[in-house]
Amino acid sequence: MGDTVRAAVQTGPRQIEIREFPRPVIGPDDGGLLRVEACGICGSDVEQFRGNLGQQWLPMVPGHEPLGILEEVSDSAAARWGVRPGDRVAVEILIPCRSCDLCLAGRYMSCRNRVGSHGGSQPASRGLGLWGGFAEYIHLHPNSILHKVRGDIPAEVAVMFNPLGAGVRWACHLGGVGLGSVVLILGAGQRGLSAVLASRAAGAGTIIVTGLSRDAGKLALAREFGADVCIDVEAEDTVGRVLEVTGGVGADVALELTPMAVQPIRDALAAVRWGGRVVLAGLKGGQPAELSTDLIINKALTVVGAFSVDSRAYAEAIRLIETGRFPLARMHTHTFGLPDVSRAIETLAGEVPGEDAVHVAIVPGASEPRGAAMPGLRSDEGATREGSALKRPEREQEMG
Ligand SMILES: [Zn+2]
Ligand SMILES: [Zn+2]
Repeated sequence: MGDTVRAAVQTGPRQIEIREFPRPVIGPDDGGLLRVEACGICGSDVEQFRGNLGQQWLPMVPGHEPLGILEEVSDSAAARWGVRPGDRVAVEILIPCRSCDLCLAGRYMSCRNRVGSHGGSQPASRGLGLWGGFAEYIHLHPNSILHKVRGDIPAEVAVMFNPLGAGVRWACHLGGVGLGSVVLILGAGQRGLSAVLASRAAGAGTIIVTGLSRDAGKLALAREFGADVCIDVEAEDTVGRVLEVTGGVGADVALELTPMAVQPIRDALAAVRWGGRVVLAGLKGGQPAELSTDLIINKALTVVGAFSVDSRAYAEAIRLIETGRFPLARMHTHTFGLPDVSRAIETLAGEVPGEDAVHVAIVPGASEPRGAAMPGLRSDEGATREGSALKRPEREQEMG
C-alpha cells in the first residue's frame, strides 16, 4: 500500500466525501492497522447519514460493522488479542476502558470512560481519524475488541456477524429462545431475519414473523431461513393469527424489532403467553408508546430492553456463520465501493426506487456496485429445506 489511506468522511447531513489520510504509523503502545474487507450497513447508519444522531461528531468516518485483515499489529496488542498479522477479524463498534465497574461487570457497551468507537459517536479529543469502517484502513486502538473469523468465508457473509450477533443476543440470550420455543418476531429486516436464524439454530419449535405487505420478499426469505408462519400485518390481525397458530396460548417469546411503529409493542404484549417474555429492540425516535401495564402484571410478563449486542453474542454468531449451515448469503443484496457510500446508505434506507435491499455492505476494494444476490456460502441447503418442510404444516400461509 502507499503512504495514504482513502476514507469516506461525513461532513454534514447527507454529505459524504472521499478524503486521503496519511497512513498511520503503528507504535509499540498502539493497537494495529486493519485493512477493511467489508463493512456492513444498518439502520443506525441511515440515521447517522440523515443527521439524526447529532452532528457534534462531524466530520467523521462512519461505518461501525467492519471486518478485515490485520496488516500490522503491535507486539503488545498482538499478545493481548491473541492475533498476528494476516488474521481476519471482526471489530466491535465500542472501544471501552476495560477498567470501570460496568466494563468489569461485562457491561462494557455502556462503559463510563469509553475511549471512543469505530464508526459511532466519538469524543472530540479523538479528532478526525481512521476509526470508522467506510475506509481502506482502520486504526485500531489497543482497547478495540476483535474477534477472529475464518478466512475462507466470503467477506459479505462473514461481515454479517453484526446482524446475526443481534439475532443471537436478542432471541437467545435476552429472549431465552431454546428447544421447542414458540417465537414471535415482529419485523422482517436484516435483524428480524437474523433472529429467525438464531432461533432456528437454538432449536425453536415454531417461528412466526411479521412484516408489511411490501416486505413480501423478506418474508419469503424468512421462510427459507426457517420461519413457519409469516404474517402480513396489513392484511391480517397479528395477535389473532398468533393465537390461532398457538391454539389460543400465545408465543413464549416476542421480539419487537420494528423501527418507529408503536402498535407492534402492544401486539407483542398481547400475543405472548402467560409468563412470556417480550424483548424490545425497535427504537421509536423518542416517541412514547401507550400500553397497558395491567396486562404486563396480569400476564406476569418479563419485558426486556435490548440495548446493543455484546461479545458473547458476536462470538456465537461468528461460530454459527463458520458452520456454513445457514444460507446467510441469501440475505446479502448489495455491495458498493467506497465512492458509493451515500448511495449504499440510500439503498438500504429504501430511497432508491426499484431496489429492495436487505443487507448492504461497503467493500472498499469493489470496483463497481454489485446488486445481485451473491452465490456465497452454500452448505446443506437440502437438509435445511427438508427440516423446515417437516416443521411446516401451514404452507398455505406462504407469502408472495
Ligand atoms: Zn449497525
Ligand atoms: Zn469502562
